[in-house]
Amino acid sequence: MIEAWRLAWYDAAIAGTGVRFMKSSMRSLCPRNAVLAAALALAGLAAQPAAAEERAKDLFGAEKLPTATAPQSFGFYSKGCFAGGVAIPMDGPTWQVMRPSRNRRWGHPAMIALIERLSRDAVADGWPGLLIGDIAQPRGGPMLSGHASHQIGLDADIWLTPMPDRTMTRAQRETMSATLMVDDKTHLVKDALWTPAHTRLLKRAASYPEVERILVNPGIKKKLCDTVKGDRSWLRKIRPFWGHDYHFHMRIGCQPGSPNCKAQEATPEDDGCGKPLAWWFTQEPWRPNKNPDAPKARDLMTMANLPKECRAVLDAPGPASAEAATYHGDAVPVAVAVPEPEAPSLPAVTASGTAGLPSPVNAFTATPEVGVPVPRPRPPAK
Ligand SMILES: [Zn+2]
Repeated sequence: MIEAWRLAWYDAAIAGTGVRFMKSSMRSLCPRNAVLAAALALAGLAAQPAAAEERAKDLFGAEKLPTATAPQSFGFYSKGCFAGGVAIPMDGPTWQVMRPSRNRRWGHPAMIALIERLSRDAVADGWPGLLIGDIAQPRGGPMLSGHASHQIGLDADIWLTPMPDRTMTRAQRETMSATLMVDDKTHLVKDALWTPAHTRLLKRAASYPEVERILVNPGIKKKLCDTVKGDRSWLRKIRPFWGHDYHFHMRIGCQPGSPNCKAQEATPEDDGCGKPLAWWFTQEPWRPNKNPDAPKARDLMTMANLPKECRAVLDAPGPASAEAATYHGDAVPVAVAVPEPEAPSLPAVTASGTAGLPSPVNAFTATPEVGVPVPRPRPPAK
């Protein structure tokens, strides 16, 4: 039972969809109290949570600006934070940022550079431009709402809705509906909506060596499995998960200069179109959650649950303004990034607030495969 728990919890945590999904599929295996206790234990959380201690999500959710320090990720995608974040501009020639009031357009500079690169490549491939969803909070960490991951600046959500050919107003970006690509009864892609351009966009995103995983709805994975001809090697990176029916989630590996960033396990070598995908088209993953109000991991995490460097990240000085930490690609005065020392101390801020903005060279460096175990998708039910 515990093994099943562990896998389910990590599945939910690493994929940014929250732990609530886990409970539905696990409740048949455990009495409810045991379920909650096991979840808390596996999350590394105290049995008496955060009544007195401040919750990490409140502290990180309140940060308006990044640290004005060299870029560095601490911890894991679902349990960490990052320093030296930069913002993607609200508008570029080939992208627009959605839901700006959330202030989640921050990421590791390598992530931001890659999103901009994807937007250019996608346009060259015939996609009208990217609508950018959540990346991370200015200093990462657990979020006040939504995702379990997106904590170390290396995850980004990109909408599957093509960019309109006009610059949207702030209000439009807050309210425009996304296109749901998947029928929620059959879990299959709506064929009237899916186009070869969607496939090309995902293929392009998967083509970058630093992209380790792309999370999509199982229906989208199935559509790709059923239709992609020729080179199918990139399907390995496309991983099915709950939600992700209007956007895909692009995750890059730990970047140079982040010795305390925990890598995820490499994806299996095959295209993932066989048995593991078939499980998603059984009833088990879709049973309703009987306990939807149970606390999620992000609601319980305190600073003690995060890497110790995250306290220094909270305390580090910020830039003068968001603009001072906005990434402008080649226009950023850059120094070639050098590996950070292992000490958790953070470099001092400079007057300009742009110290440590890395060279784009850094953004496209292949990431080493490190054998830190991350559980694989849950095996099919027997
Ligand atoms: Zn995401």
